[in-house]
Amino acid sequence: MSIDLGTRLPDVLGKRSADALANKLDLHTVGDLVRHYPRRYVPRGALTPIAELTVGEHATVVARVEKATVRPMRNRPGRLMNVVLRDDRGGRLSCTFFNPHKLAHLITPGRRALFAGKVSRFRTELQLTHPEFDPLEEGEDIRPFVSVYPAAEKLGSAVIARCVRHVLDLLDDPADPLPGYLRRAERLPELGRALRRIHLPETEAEYRAARARLVWDEALGVQLALALRRQQSLERPAAACPATSGGLLDEFDAALPFPLTEGQQQVGAEIAADLARELPMNRLVQGDVGAGKTVVALRAMLQVLDGGRQAAMLAPTEVLAAQHARSLRALLGPLGRAGELDSAEQATRVTLLTGSLSTTARRQALLDARSGAAGIVVGTHALIQDQVEFADLGLVVVDEQHRFGVEQRDVLRGRGERTPHLLVMTATPIPRTVAMTVYGDLEVSALRELPRGRSPIGTTVVPAGEKPAWLQRVWQRIHEEVAAGHQVFVVCPRVGGDAARKGGAPDDEDAELIDLTDPDLGADADDGADDGAVRRPPHAVLDVAPGLAEGPLAGLRLGVLHGKLPPEDKDTVMRSFDAGELDVLVATTVIEVGVDVPNATGMVILDADRFGLSQLHQLRGRVGRGSAPGVCLLVTDAPAGTRARERLDAVASTTDGFELARLDLELRREGDVLGAMQAGRRSGLRLLSLLHHEEIISTARGYASDIVAQDPGLAGHPDLRGLVDEIVGESQAEYLSKV
Ligand code: ADP
Ligand code: MG
Repeated sequence: MSIDLGTRLPDVLGKRSADALANKLDLHTVGDLVRHYPRRYVPRGALTPIAELTVGEHATVVARVEKATVRPMRNRPGRLMNVVLRDDRGGRLSCTFFNPHKLAHLITPGRRALFAGKVSRFRTELQLTHPEFDPLEEGEDIRPFVSVYPAAEKLGSAVIARCVRHVLDLLDDPADPLPGYLRRAERLPELGRALRRIHLPETEAEYRAARARLVWDEALGVQLALALRRQQSLERPAAACPATSGGLLDEFDAALPFPLTEGQQQVGAEIAADLARELPMNRLVQGDVGAGKTVVALRAMLQVLDGGRQAAMLAPTEVLAAQHARSLRALLGPLGRAGELDSAEQATRVTLLTGSLSTTARRQALLDARSGAAGIVVGTHALIQDQVEFADLGLVVVDEQHRFGVEQRDVLRGRGERTPHLLVMTATPIPRTVAMTVYGDLEVSALRELPRGRSPIGTTVVPAGEKPAWLQRVWQRIHEEVAAGHQVFVVCPRVGGDAARKGGAPDDEDAELIDLTDPDLGADADDGADDGAVRRPPHAVLDVAPGLAEGPLAGLRLGVLHGKLPPEDKDTVMRSFDAGELDVLVATTVIEVGVDVPNATGMVILDADRFGLSQLHQLRGRVGRGSAPGVCLLVTDAPAGTRARERLDAVASTTDGFELARLDLELRREGDVLGAMQAGRRSGLRLLSLLHHEEIISTARGYASDIVAQDPGLAGHPDLRGLVDEIVGESQAEYLSKV
């Protein structure tokens, strides 16, 4: 019988095994099964000789059945099988199996098998009670490694291993989709060999090489899918807007009151080059809070305006949209006051579009966008996507939403047949590999330095549970900041004002900001909750604010900001805080992104363990934006030594967002990140790690681009086309195009 990767498992295996593999592990074909890789390998050396067993340990022994007797149990119905085992070195051990009717024919004298279980003592003898049992073919146990498979209930690793061995025996080496030149250049074993060796390695080097090769399949499959998509996007080109001289951008640069940082210049040049091309730009600019991303974005917008097109800037919340509009207008000065008396000659107009505009104002704004009178339109994602038509949109700048995708761009394209360029700005550092894959093929530019004159932020973890007195010191510290003429944020995970919620996730409903799939947010489940203690609900703005006003912060001017406030109230509160009319702002994470009040120097985050790591970093970025040093106090009840505390310590240990992003990825266990990509569907991604395979992913990207450039639809590479479908999956390829 000869089989291939497409052969259905019921045609090769017994019905029982095939059913179990299908139902429990969703494995249906030979290809599925051989891509079900071992999780780890137990070196043969780790099998314990019987003579060295100790009571209480969980041991695996290889031994031969010397004697097996079945008898009825004494005090209960049912039967009992007593088995005496002897290993190579002469060690003797007894095992008991209850109700052994299914096993009796397998456990016969002379049979060699692997037995695993907990060692106990019965009278003077050591024994294993109802151990796991895996019969070995003669000679089979000389394999140097036992492959341990991801298993399921009633479908143990040993059974899977046996099915895999059976299938590999029958399988002819499959055609290798990786081109020979690539395999030789990267020194990768052929597919057939790699598959055999990942399951049945003779040496550690063999399974390492096999894994490396199979990781390549995945990396190349993903990168080919992305390269195909890039290729397709050329069918709907963007408007090329090369830099011109004597335009708005030149005038703006000439009037800029500060020199651009080196990073701003460099990233600016990358963007300028992208905008000059017809290939739609897809770029992520990441820079820590305060790194000066707005200027970078504005300069990009001006280049596009100089090219005769419009630009849109999308913010996650209304507060932020309003703030962006204000800062763009401030930066532009007379250049942004078209139609006003003191405007510059070639001035443009910044139009704010939010839900809180009056009907007339809104109609006018929509009209200006459609006619092209508005050069720059600023609003929230939702609003602009749903309602605005542009005369000729050349660039979309998206603030803090990484998953802005092709589809959303299509909506914005409006009547113009051209795809707008896309610039995403974020203070959340995203590893390059994640940006390139999960977030849909974004090129990454980084602003690593802060403009000069920025102050350091000191971060301290306040263990309120262990040291309640420290909390007093926190409020005292706020008074000190205010007395020095500064302002302070107090951040809570919840808005409150309703019945206490279950669970610990922050619930701000301005929560486009909060990634509820962020595994960090659920992380406290591992920490305190499993001791059965009931956790109090997390602090809520609407409870904390009055408590502080009457208690420890009496005498200070307190404001409240959260997502449930009507937009105009939010704006009013932000303006009074901005104007210094409030000392303390008790808020939810609405202030997470972009809020820029240079006089704010202090931040207290209550129940800090309820927030994600990058979220904390962003929140902290709201202080220390002026010349005075900032202080951030992370208040938590999480006990020392828990994972929650580790994360807080990490945030306190560094202000380098890039370092934190790495820590974050490590703490999350990388699978979660790719998990977002898999979105619960089956995909061929099993080994690829965004953390560990950065190098391979980059190299694969290069190969993929070359291959697709020469063969745009992969028509000449059916094997590679197949690889894309297998690794990325057809539904997945579709998903990728929407990320
Ligand atoms: P973020 O990257 O967090 O969006 P912003 O763009 O809001 O940062 O910039 C923060 C502040 O720094 C703003 O007040 C901005 O005008 C100022 N700024 C930006 N670039 C420079 C620079 N090169 N030199 C001095 N100040 C700058
Ligand atoms: Mg910003």
